[in-house]
Amino acid sequence: MIPFSPPRIDQKIIDEVIETLKSGWITTGPKTKLFEKKLQEYTNSKRCLCLNSATAGLELILRWFGVKPGDEVILPAYTYCATANVVIHCGATPVFADICDDFNIDIKDVANKLTERTKVIIPVDICGLPCDYDELNSLINNNKNLFTPENEEQKKLGRVLLLSDSAHSIGAIYDNKKLGTQSDVSVFSFHAVKNLTTAEGGAISFNLPNTFDCEEIYNKLCIKSLHGQNKDALSKLKKGSWRYDIIEAGYKWNMTDIQAAIGLIELERYDSDMLVKRKQIFDKYTESFSKYSWAKLPITINNKKETSYHVYPLRINGINEDTRDSIISEIFEQEVSVNVHFIPLPLMSFYKSLGYNIKDYPVAYKNYSQEISLPVYYDLRDQDIEKVINAVVSAVESKKNNL
Ligand SMILES: *Cc1c(COP(=O)(O)O)cnc(C)c1O
Repeated sequence: MIPFSPPRIDQKIIDEVIETLKSGWITTGPKTKLFEKKLQEYTNSKRCLCLNSATAGLELILRWFGVKPGDEVILPAYTYCATANVVIHCGATPVFADICDDFNIDIKDVANKLTERTKVIIPVDICGLPCDYDELNSLINNNKNLFTPENEEQKKLGRVLLLSDSAHSIGAIYDNKKLGTQSDVSVFSFHAVKNLTTAEGGAISFNLPNTFDCEEIYNKLCIKSLHGQNKDALSKLKKGSWRYDIIEAGYKWNMTDIQAAIGLIELERYDSDMLVKRKQIFDKYTESFSKYSWAKLPITINNKKETSYHVYPLRINGINEDTRDSIISEIFEQEVSVNVHFIPLPLMSFYKSLGYNIKDYPVAYKNYSQEISLPVYYDLRDQDIEKVINAVVSAVESKKNNL
């Protein structure tokens, strides 16, 4: 069976983890701090904070910005549940926007949904393709008069906060720059299936306007993500430094040095090895499927942006959801694992129960109905790629009378 996206764990990573285990320091400490510094350099952002997930990062920023009941947060209907669940955790209202043909949030629909209650927009770089950040930034800057600040941070910003869910897009390019500086704040995921993994993990990269002191915010959020404790375990170790205080009811979202050890190795060879490999796999799929008129290929690069080659979202023209499902069953019959990214949130029981209806997001539904995500991972060999292509072609052609 060809798996969908196993992590790449080689001897180098194993050695680094063992070294960390033996070092005497396994929770947040020197490796995490070093990983933060390397990520900050890699993304060229003002500061990076590592946490135990991207979900924690998104929620931490909503909490920092004071998002609360009565507030609205605009995000795409087409994303993983984490993007919306964190809004619910804060008691605020997720407002879904439809998407464009390229799977990313439809900025015209975002504009229609902006109100005086909108506090944050969370665009998602689906499959690794960056959103249209110039347009998103213009939108929030042109609508400052609508924004109703209710606390110090909101007054200081004076407009809607742009918080990117960049869970898929570390290393992607927008306007000749790596992702991480196009929004006020970007959040990356290092979950096991993501391009760059720490098993579980995430990072926030800050690029707030200069009226904000990102170093001060970093220090504040270190405390907020560790119980509201004013000293972390490492600083408590210093001689005589045992006393600490709790200054708020914070969370427990810190990254461990074991996770950071994996991340440091992954990041070091990310551009020169991982991204190169993933691009080769994408190119092979694109070359093969471009021969078939039923295949709709994903955008991976244009004059403004380049994907991080995270997920290959193939679409089959003209099919409906049922046909897509039967094509997927047929592909699995041939020992190839595929997936769908994503089931739109208005189709999920919880979001349905809140009154969201998929009929209001026609492009999200259409893209979902025709989408099949193909395996992309470091250890995928040429003969595996051939097997995936053959399985998809024969599965689609066997359902041809439905097309
Ligand atoms: C994976 C993912 C997340 C959550 O990442 P975690 O690190 O698992 O919390 C958020 N958004 C999207 C779009 C994702 O795919």
